[in-house]
Amino acid sequence: AKKVQHTPYCLFSKDMRQQLSYLHEIEESLHRAVREKEFQVHYQPQYSLHSLKLVGAEALVRWPRSDRMVSPCEFIPLAEKFGLISAIGEFVFETAARQLQAWSHCKIELPRVAINTSSTQLLAGNFGDVVERILQENQLTANRIDIEVTESVMMKNIERNGNNENANCLSTLQEKGLEISIDDFGTGYSSLSYIKHLNVDRIKIDKSFIDDIEFNKEARSIVRAIIKMGHSLGMKVLAEGIETPNQLDILKALECDEGQGYLFSKPLDAAKFEMKCLSA
Ligand code: C2E
Ligand code: CA
Ligand code: CA
Repeated sequence: AKKVQHTPYCLFSKDMRQQLSYLHEIEESLHRAVREKEFQVHYQPQYSLHSLKLVGAEALVRWPRSDRMVSPCEFIPLAEKFGLISAIGEFVFETAARQLQAWSHCKIELPRVAINTSSTQLLAGNFGDVVERILQENQLTANRIDIEVTESVMMKNIERNGNNENANCLSTLQEKGLEISIDDFGTGYSSLSYIKHLNVDRIKIDKSFIDDIEFNKEARSIVRAIIKMGHSLGMKVLAEGIETPNQLDILKALECDEGQGYLFSKPLDAAKFEMKCLSA
């Protein structure tokens, strides 16, 4: 018979203990950040590639700390893990909606604001009510809000919907009149068939394809195909992460509808966004 090996009760090495206390520290400061509303929202302008007119802005969360600005790539996954993502998402949505309403009094109106959503937030069950409340409190029509959803969340939504019709949060939002965009398109491992299940308004082509579009024929072919597919399904196509005039020219030639990226502007805080984008 095999000998059972008894391991001593030393599950945590010093390294692991250090890591754990580090994680614990971050968890505490994230909780505090939510409580004290330490987050900020920056806005990245989105333009029509035909007219080069401002068509919207993507709201992007920022966490300023005493030593540095923490990237959402770092703290969003942690917020997800600690059950804080819905609270943060709601803060971003509320802040952006209030800002959009405030900007309505500017000379040039910002047509819409795009909100990033996590699956937890979207599938929470009360997201429709949250949206309704935020729209009402800020006297905004639903078409001023664009909900960005990644492919994997899209898939989860459809799987859920298989069991329970009421769980189809995305089509409920669409019925309310909100726009739905697929974020980071092309990077998910999901099947394309989900696209026909839900007629979304917009495809956002991931930056990685745009990065290669100048010098890589294959990337250009993929982008061309995505744009054609989007158009034939009645969707708008937006290119993310446009950094060079050459990329812009290629995308225009491929009849891509909209774009955002450092070539136009980095994400800006509300005051800078107002100065740069709303005062023409
Ligand atoms: P994302 O939704 O794909 O957002 C686009 C990211 O690309 C942003 O990074 C933006 O600053 C950056 N970007 C835009 N144009 C360019 C460009 O031309 N060149 C380069 N190099 N980068 C560009 P950011 O703000 O650091 O956000 C990272 C990610 O964090 C977002 O990726 C999104 O997935 C997530 N995130 C941000 N805000 C929220 C939020 O409020 N809720 C949720 N759930 N996720 C968020
Ligand atoms: Ca996004
Ligand atoms: Ca994206």
